[in-house]
Amino acid sequence: MTNFMNIANMKTTYILIALLWLLHHTTIAQPTPVLLKNITLIDGNGGPPVLQSDILIKDGYIAAIGKQLSPQNAQQIDLTGKTIIPSLISSHAHIATLKSTTVAPENYTRDNIINQLKKYERYGISAVIIMGTDRPIIFNGLRDSSIAGLLPGARLYSAGYGFTAPEGIPPKSPAMQYLQRPATVEEATAQMKEMAKLHPAVVKIWVDDGGGKFPKMKRDIYQAIIKEAHKHGIKVAAHVYYLEDAKQLVADDINILGHSIRNKEIDNDLLQQMKANNVAYIPTLTLDKYAFIYADSPPWINDVFFKESLEPGVYDMITSKSFRDNIKTSPNYQRDQNGLAIAMINLKKIHDAGITVCMGTDSGATPVRTQGFSEHLEMALMVEAGLTPLQAISCATKNAASLLKIADQYGTIEIGKKADFIILSANPSNDINNTRKIESVWKNGEKLN
Ligand SMILES: [Zn+2]
Repeated sequence: MTNFMNIANMKTTYILIALLWLLHHTTIAQPTPVLLKNITLIDGNGGPPVLQSDILIKDGYIAAIGKQLSPQNAQQIDLTGKTIIPSLISSHAHIATLKSTTVAPENYTRDNIINQLKKYERYGISAVIIMGTDRPIIFNGLRDSSIAGLLPGARLYSAGYGFTAPEGIPPKSPAMQYLQRPATVEEATAQMKEMAKLHPAVVKIWVDDGGGKFPKMKRDIYQAIIKEAHKHGIKVAAHVYYLEDAKQLVADDINILGHSIRNKEIDNDLLQQMKANNVAYIPTLTLDKYAFIYADSPPWINDVFFKESLEPGVYDMITSKSFRDNIKTSPNYQRDQNGLAIAMINLKKIHDAGITVCMGTDSGATPVRTQGFSEHLEMALMVEAGLTPLQAISCATKNAASLLKIADQYGTIEIGKKADFIILSANPSNDINNTRKIESVWKNGEKLN
């Protein structure tokens, strides 16, 4: 009797689950269209904002854009005084490396990954490229489900397991145990061939000596990785610091420079080569800023928008006297400030040359490179370097989407694209800091907060 009752209960439960599933999916398939009225539109293409725009959202997509649209059966939302921009894409980020003030392998859990993707999303970031620090658990469905929009949070694009020199940076540590350190051309080719099976969005290589302290990846090794990656149609992104390495990498068909050139100003020769080879450039200015800025109190230190992005314990850490003193007495203190100054000059030159610049931050790599806030600070630093706010927004939307080859669906607010966008209470074309005034974030045509 008891068994029978259990079976009957189980059946009821299954029927209930099936009904709930049906109900849930029926409402997703046929939502009421939404009409956003009288909003200032910044579509990501770089043109001037279009005042008093109406935008119709249907089935998760942008169905119409115009003036005084009057579709039938649409839920109307008056957004007079508000501005809409496409959701942001961070082209250089790290996920679940951190928890509180620690960087440790045990932080890389499904829960921590989802929590951090949700944090990015709260800050209006709809996609992130994780640059080489991922671990196997995401390749059993998590990454693909995230890209398909089936999981909460920003969509996770992965560069898989990054490549560096056998004794290169990042130094060997449990948190970096999946990095590949090929010693020979054969090994590099074989490892890249295996990596291709995971279908990474791009692959990442480190070509840097960490300020002269570590051996750099040798040229024949990265040539082999680039050659093999290209056989599989995969772009290669390089962590760089020095102009000389950037030149060699560009000559050897690199697709993306994943950080700024920080030792010297870029010359015309390299500008032309980068343009001719269609090399994308991710400045990650925040990384350089964070290297020294907490020696003093940055103007945003007590902003809620900043503090809410921090992992627990980080605020106390970065405002402590010992932390500040350590930065000031660090042998890199001056080098880091000079590096940022040169990076700013190079960004302006590179952008002026018509090279594709994509917003990326290296957020999530260390506790001070905070996720979400960094992406907004990065755009502000781009403006400080001489880009207009609209140009900085295009770097963070349209350009980053084209880098990921997802521009057919994401990166701009245009008819036929996914309805992924941010509604702001102030116009960022006048002041880039207005990207921080987030009223709501939308994903797949649904308001999230
Ligand atoms: Zn990085």
